[in-house]
Amino acid sequence: MINIAIDGPAGSGKSTIAKAVAGRLGIRYMDTGAMYRGIAYTLVKAGISASDVPEVIDSINRTDLKVEYDEEGQHIIVDGEDVNGFLRTPEVTKMSSDSAVIPEVREKLVAIQQETAKRYDIVMDGRDIGTVVMPDAPLKVFMTASPRVRALRRKLENDEKGIPCDLDQLEAEIIARDHTDSTRKTSPLKQADDAVFLDTSYMTIEEVVDFVIDKVNKVFNTDV
Ligand code: C5P
Repeated sequence: MINIAIDGPAGSGKSTIAKAVAGRLGIRYMDTGAMYRGIAYTLVKAGISASDVPEVIDSINRTDLKVEYDEEGQHIIVDGEDVNGFLRTPEVTKMSSDSAVIPEVREKLVAIQQETAKRYDIVMDGRDIGTVVMPDAPLKVFMTASPRVRALRRKLENDEKGIPCDLDQLEAEIIARDHTDSTRKTSPLKQADDAVFLDTSYMTIEEVVDFVIDKVNKVFNTDV
């Protein structure tokens, strides 16, 4: 079974790398952040605040969340609706981090992630994949980059999409989200003891993919 865990903070490039590695291996890629964003989208839509924990728990108990795949990749389906197009707004981004501190939110999503990892060869990215979701994954990578570099990457993505943004503000938002993600009590963003650490600040995407593929070939005896 191929189970690969890629963790790291917002904007470290883990999704790009996880997607590329899964593509090279011809296996599934699960973006777990999109699942937290799916929950966040329903909370924002219902006008529920993340600090109102009983309301959040009530809402997630009533929410049906599925992860489906087609040629375009992963789709988050909430109560029968494909919500992929609504997951990247600043409100949903902030809410995803604020609601991810609630243990019941995590339990619901971790159960889906673990069930998927049992059934499929998979590359999964997130914050707690190597520590909680797939603690036995034979290959774990923890990627990071400086907040400025990560903000710059986000800005370039936004520029390409024509979304106006300010570099300093993006950097401040990234630092705030890092803080929420790494100081929460349940499953904080943390490098697993047996994860390979990689600072991608001064590496190109190709260099990072090559680095991870080299590890994959060694660990799983593949030749991709
Ligand atoms: O990876 P992405 O930036 O899309 O994740 C959005 C938010 O979801 C993160 O800031 C984090 O709070 C939460 N998350 C998490 N655990 C994961 C993946 C994401 O807590 N495995």
